[in-house]
Amino acid sequence: MHVPAAAGRKEIPLPKELTELKEKLTLACRVIATESLADGPLGHISYLLPSGQEVLIKPTEVGFEEMTEKDMVRVTLDGVKKEGHYTVPGEAPLHLEVYRTRPQVRSIVHLHPPYTTILSTQSKAFVPLCQEGVLFLHGVPRFDDTAEVITTPEMGQATTQCLGDKRALLMTNHGLLAVGESVEEACLTALYLEKAIKLQVLAEPGGSLRLIPLPVMQRMYQRAYQPGWAEKRWPYYARKAQAAFPLL
Ligand SMILES: [Zn+2]
Repeated sequence: MHVPAAAGRKEIPLPKELTELKEKLTLACRVIATESLADGPLGHISYLLPSGQEVLIKPTEVGFEEMTEKDMVRVTLDGVKKEGHYTVPGEAPLHLEVYRTRPQVRSIVHLHPPYTTILSTQSKAFVPLCQEGVLFLHGVPRFDDTAEVITTPEMGQATTQCLGDKRALLMTNHGLLAVGESVEEACLTALYLEKAIKLQVLAEPGGSLRLIPLPVMQRMYQRAYQPGWAEKRWPYYARKAQAAFPLL
């Protein structure tokens, strides 16, 4: 079945070489490992290729820190494998359904970072308490239907609907989904959510929280999170990951 690209998707300049995209995703995997966001080999990062019809995705069999570009799997939006030694992750529908629905999303990260997963087991809402938290000024919805892995298009549609137009989704008893217009944005969105939730989880037992007033958060958001914010902040994380896990 031919799947049309979502209406309104941004025109992307000429496709970069597939190998360059794979290298970028491999580096992003190493950033995820370096920043302690990985849960062993579980979780994935994906990227929608310029055709809008196929996705590169990290397989579950390989750890984030040991990924090489040869390990990436290429899959259609229907879940049909086109390239790769490993199998298409069982949770690919979690990614594929977002790409079908959100025209501007080019990259998605699904992870089980420790503090986000802790908050996902509690009946508490996410509260932005710091600079990283302000990225989520417009809210972080929670997918409460099931703690099971998202393995069918129907389940993927349900999580996509719950995500709506937001940057990230908290998945009850499971982890997070973060989206972006670039690999950098998807990765740093996941990192910032985990950092913000870590602060919340550690701060809450200490007593009543000092909340940031909404007008202040709005000013902070305007200042820090204009388009391109993640690309500007990415080089530091890339250098750190390359030092921790040098690409061969
Ligand atoms: Zn998962």
